[in-house]
Amino acid sequence: MFEILAAIGFAISFAWAWLTGGDEVPLTERSQVILIDSGEESALGARAFEEVLSRHRALEGDGADAVREIAARIVKAAEESFGADYDWRTELLQDDAANAFALPGGNIAVLSGLLPVAQNADGLATVIGHEVAHVIARHSAERLTQQRIADLGRLAVAVALGDMDPGTRQAVIGALGIGTQFGILMPFSRVHESEADRIGLVLMAQACFDPREAPELWRRMARAAGDGPPEFMSTHPAPQSRIENLTGWIDEALQAREAAGCPPLS
Ligand SMILES: [Zn+2]
Repeated sequence: MFEILAAIGFAISFAWAWLTGGDEVPLTERSQVILIDSGEESALGARAFEEVLSRHRALEGDGADAVREIAARIVKAAEESFGADYDWRTELLQDDAANAFALPGGNIAVLSGLLPVAQNADGLATVIGHEVAHVIARHSAERLTQQRIADLGRLAVAVALGDMDPGTRQAVIGALGIGTQFGILMPFSRVHESEADRIGLVLMAQACFDPREAPELWRRMARAAGDGPPEFMSTHPAPQSRIENLTGWIDEALQAREAAGCPPLS
């Protein structure tokens, strides 16, 4: 009975969000439907980050300081331009994978294997800008909302088959659990990737990094993926057109950079 009421409640909120236009992504102005409370979203992100920290060594020293400084500049740009008010925290973790991620709520992790591929501050800023963009565009919450909508169908089956044995029924309804679906390694969609690339580029430029380095970084990333497991690409699938799109957005980013009062580039 509770499940039916929950499903009906969710369907009504979805219909309401749909009719009223839902939320809007910063910069791209794409409308999105998010039915996850931002407090719940942040709590899930914080829990997942604690789990990550229990399995990785957080590094200290010059490398970690540099990563934190870059992240702080990008976060400041996100707060000033888009009012992104989160509890930000950045860690450099010992891990050979060339990857980085940011969890909903503002926890950012850069894996040490990314440093040789990033090569310089502008390259690192490209990746961190991309990750911060996923957070402020609330991509995880949007994905979770879509997952819950998909689960409504499954739930209807479970309720209709009310005479199913309790174990099986429990397994079907267990699909509503959000723990595994909120796994940090679940890949983003191409729409989300493209959006994170564009917003991230503007953010790193507003933080006075050089957006012209972004296509170079993604070229290095693609080459690194050829040598071993494509770590970043496995969680951030991108269209072949990523480098082309980024090149097309450089003017927008350079204008944002100038408007932010950054010193001219050489
Ligand atoms: Zn991404």
